Amino acid sequence: MKTMAVATGNPHKLQEFSEILAPLGWRVASIRDWLPMVPEPDETEPDFAGNAALKCRFAVAVLREARLASLPDAVAADDSGLAVNVLGGAPGVYSARFAEIAGHGIGDADNRRELVRRLRLCGLHEGFTTLAAFACAIHVQDLSQGLQHHSLAWCEGRVGLMERGSGGFGYDSLFFPLVNAGQVCDKTFAELPSDTKHALSHRGKALCLLAQKL
Ligand code: IMP
Repeated sequence: MKTMAVATGNPHKLQEFSEILAPLGWRVASIRDWLPMVPEPDETEPDFAGNAALKCRFAVAVLREARLASLPDAVAADDSGLAVNVLGGAPGVYSARFAEIAGHGIGDADNRRELVRRLRLCGLHEGFTTLAAFACAIHVQDLSQGLQHHSLAWCEGRVGLMERGSGGFGYDSLFFPLVNAGQVCDKTFAELPSDTKHALSHRGKALCLLAQKL
């Protein structure tokens, strides 16, 4: 089995990477297993792909500088988020800090409250949903061959005002994915089993594209 270090402090992303890649022959671990105190760079790029590349290259540079006795076979970074049509694509690359930037708290629960607040301001009513999509960009560096690979995938769907389900993380409890051409699932990502989420999700698609290249 090959080993992939994921440069993220988000345990949910790490778990999803592991669930999706383990059947494809990868052992997934946090980069903190190699470097417990690894810093996270500022996400200064305007798009998901740019930020994923920035995070991955930063992690590889820090790993190489540490001159460790053993390294993972590959280092990966994920930059992802939710884009809502009526909000002009927000929160987009600012998904993780949506509430914080607005001065309305910090973390997943406050981010969801901020999203619901903005949707109400746009005139969305209880019981209705509106178009949205999750995006996930992943950048991987294969340390043995020095090659870099990247992928970007979307999961279209709709967001509503009422949280449903207790699984997943982030905006999952507000997001109803499209299951096939134009048909919206009657369950949110947070209500679906994780393997069903992975089969539909932005991260599941982006990782499957990458696994083919690796
Ligand atoms: P990043 O660390 O800048 O990539 O932040 C991504 C943010 O987007 C997370 O904190 C979540 O709020 C959100 N997000 C990304 N992927 C998902 C997902 O699969 N479900 C729910 N929220 C997600």
